[in-house]
Amino acid sequence: MMPTLPPHVSAARFAQALAAFGAVVGANQVSTTPAELARYADPFAPGDGERAFSASAVLTPASVDEVRAILRVANEHSIPLWTVSTGRNYGYGGAAPRLAGSVVLDLQRMNRILEVNEPLGYALVEPGVSYFDLYQHLRTHGYRLWTDPPAAGWGSVMGNTLERGFGYTPYGDHAATQCGMEVVLANGDVVRTGMGGIDTGTAWQLYRYGYGPQFDPLFMQSNYGIVTKLGVWLMPAPPAYWIVEVQLPREDDLAPLVETLRPLQLAGTIGQHAVIEGAIRRAAGLSPRERWYDGPGAMPESVVASMTKQLGVGRWNLHFGLYGDPDVMAAQYRLVERAFAGLRDARFIVTKYAGDEAPTAGGARNRAGIPAMSAFRMLDWRGGTGAHVDFSPLCPATGSDTMRQYTLVKTRAAEYGFDYYGGFTAGGRHLHHIFSAIFPSGDALLTQQARDLMRALMSDARAAGYGVYRSHLAWMDFAAAQYSFNDGALLRLAETIKDALDPQGVLSPGKQGVWPRAWRGARGYT
Ligand code: ADP
Repeated sequence: MMPTLPPHVSAARFAQALAAFGAVVGANQVSTTPAELARYADPFAPGDGERAFSASAVLTPASVDEVRAILRVANEHSIPLWTVSTGRNYGYGGAAPRLAGSVVLDLQRMNRILEVNEPLGYALVEPGVSYFDLYQHLRTHGYRLWTDPPAAGWGSVMGNTLERGFGYTPYGDHAATQCGMEVVLANGDVVRTGMGGIDTGTAWQLYRYGYGPQFDPLFMQSNYGIVTKLGVWLMPAPPAYWIVEVQLPREDDLAPLVETLRPLQLAGTIGQHAVIEGAIRRAAGLSPRERWYDGPGAMPESVVASMTKQLGVGRWNLHFGLYGDPDVMAAQYRLVERAFAGLRDARFIVTKYAGDEAPTAGGARNRAGIPAMSAFRMLDWRGGTGAHVDFSPLCPATGSDTMRQYTLVKTRAAEYGFDYYGGFTAGGRHLHHIFSAIFPSGDALLTQQARDLMRALMSDARAAGYGVYRSHLAWMDFAAAQYSFNDGALLRLAETIKDALDPQGVLSPGKQGVWPRAWRGARGYT
């Protein structure tokens, strides 16, 4: 079977390009067989993703020079590339490209940890370094530094940071703890940002701004360059840490919970992300759905209530860690307790650990800087081979906005037959609201329903003044179009910059709805 070719590229031209790519990376680092390409398909495709987002080939270069040479070939033959670091961006498309027929540029072989500096607390990594790799490296060499893993630790530090992912320690805002990059531009130029602009640099990973305009944020959630080195700050291992859970029993406790949490975060008493888990997401780690409900449609509220009671979890469950000196944590905890004492029937669970102790529960391991795979437990919730797509609107950190978004999502999800499997990651002034539509991937009807639900939710959110912070490939254009102030001025700016940096449009066309001139005709809501 012929792989899907990029639009407007003939088979003969594509074959020439593949031969030239092979001359750069070695023929054995060019994959085109259906079996090899299948590994780059979206594992959670909501519908006919295999066709809509299929790659034509995969290249696995080993060095910056090879990346530059690949760009020369891609520009010469107008071949669109799609860059991934490890391609585990599950829920948002995995390693699959937005434009069918793109050549996936998989950087996982570039996986060196180039530097770790303990006193200054940073690492410089290549794209293929996973959170597990970095963690292992720090432990093996005895560095007293922590990583800050996201929910699934097998992905790369690079991919998660560039997508503005997050974790759960005080270094949980990954875009904010990034410092210094090396980027290969579409024309093959290699740029080091910030203080990296000084050839014999001494502060590349220490001072984020450098001199003149700051470019690092331009390469996040964008298609302006291929990032080949990334600096990340690492937290000094604290002497101790406490894992705290506050459970609240009623559905409408969400608003007072958020009103209580925000001042604690803004004052720095809780100095990192706190996660508010809904009952179903909390329960999913403890028991399968079928134990509680096997009727049609979403789990009824009465079943949710009896499930939470029997499992001993809250209708809402707030999780966070405290880190540092036990005396200071005791004082912080007193403030937290006092604040939440105003909420009826709040239940507190605190587990105290020495800094070098590891908690057993998967979710808590992330809070202790230890990568885990707890995110995947959700896949079993609905039985079958589980898949999910996520709706992730940004939410102002007020009780009324949170309740409004929750009600909107829960109601709409139920209409389409889905439980409210979700929660909020609170970062002070905002929350990331994450709702997952979980479907057995063999179930065509539920898959279609998940797809329809995502579009409905985005429209609902837009009408209420909310926008998503990230999107699956299928809705990248739809999501971008919702940022429509002044007739889409934001996207116009993004595409003006795109055309200036990448005139042939070879880098990840369509990512986040940003299309280069050459491929703009491929824009479309799916
Ligand atoms: P993960 O780390 O979860 O495996 P991916 O490697 O799939 O994540 O990367 C997630 C997304 O981030 C990709 O789809 C791509 O858009 C972007 N990305 C990843 N690595 C790079 C890179 N080195 N340069 C530019 N963009 C990248």
